[in-house]
Amino acid sequence: MREFTVRPEILDFAPYVPGLTIEQIQERYGLTSVIKLASNENPLGTSPLVVKAIERNAARAFRYPENHTPRLTRAVAEVAGVPEECVLVGNGSDEIIDMLFRMKAVPGISNVVFYEHSFAMYGMCAKLCGLECRVVPRGEDCALPLDALAEAADENTAMVVVTSPDNPTGLAAGVEDLTVLAGVLPRDCLLVVDEAYIEFAWPPESYSPVQAFDKFENLVCLRTFSKAYGLAGMRLGYGIMPAPLAALMRNARIPFTVNLLAEEAGLAAIEDEVFFNETLATVMRGREYFTNELTRLGCKVWPSQSNFVMFRPPMDAKTVFQTLLEGGIIVRHLGSFGLADCIRVNVGTDKENRLFIQALGDILNG
Ligand SMILES: *Cc1c(COP(=O)(O)O)cnc(C)c1O
Repeated sequence: MREFTVRPEILDFAPYVPGLTIEQIQERYGLTSVIKLASNENPLGTSPLVVKAIERNAARAFRYPENHTPRLTRAVAEVAGVPEECVLVGNGSDEIIDMLFRMKAVPGISNVVFYEHSFAMYGMCAKLCGLECRVVPRGEDCALPLDALAEAADENTAMVVVTSPDNPTGLAAGVEDLTVLAGVLPRDCLLVVDEAYIEFAWPPESYSPVQAFDKFENLVCLRTFSKAYGLAGMRLGYGIMPAPLAALMRNARIPFTVNLLAEEAGLAAIEDEVFFNETLATVMRGREYFTNELTRLGCKVWPSQSNFVMFRPPMDAKTVFQTLLEGGIIVRHLGSFGLADCIRVNVGTDKENRLFIQALGDILNG
């Protein structure tokens, strides 16, 4: 094969490794029914109102969508309680993360600060942009090291990224601590709070700084339709940020990144409060059940403000993961997060949750 010349830092890129799909596992182990609790997707699937909205608009697929997704931007601003000028809707919150890095950071000069065992996108985007990554160690039990993040930042830090609620631990930073962090960062440094799971944090006012958004000049919050709204496959997320930054990003980005069906799906998802509330109830019930049952089975369990639970089983985690897989239950082994002795399992339907606990119990007691 011919070798291609690219920027040298691209040559040793570690690709993003997604969770395994149901089809892959069915084929590999000859299984007919497989339960997937690996990618933090919505336990209730897709809202029926969303399905109808997509069907209703399917024949409009030949049209370009409206650029910058104005109707959904307005709806999202209302839900978040922030001015419309501060919202940027994107092709998943991943698009917003990627754009932020490319817009804000200067290759070879800027650095970005985040903590270890976090979402792979931050490191990937930083590397692609030629930025220095300052990866801050976590404290005991993977506590979020907010003070150490502030210490690692200097005048060349483009942004500090905090995932809260955190993936994969489920831990969440309190709103006071985030406010303090925003206040002590160097003048030109953004605090980016990835709130992909914020809908599951309870009570929300203890966790999200968005409620006091007008008091911050350097705060960016990232949210997504992939989890609580059940739209991971449609690719829809948004950033809440100071209006001047949002305006610059609107100017610089490529057109039409959010497709026409995704905008309709997002609008319908916001309308369907029944589905949203049922999702929250299922997740809260499921994570309490997991926390109790996993503890009973002798696992170390992290308290979760999210739609998943991280735990350390009392035997080799990779073996547990593999045995579950062969029995048709997909969870996430956390080797790729640098936590090889831990597993993350997301809340499914009540029945899926019971089957998972049963299967795990058989493995640990067998
Ligand atoms: C799932 C997730 C997201 C969402 O990404 P999308 O591109 O909106 O699907 C963002 N950040 C973290 C930490 C996540 O786990």
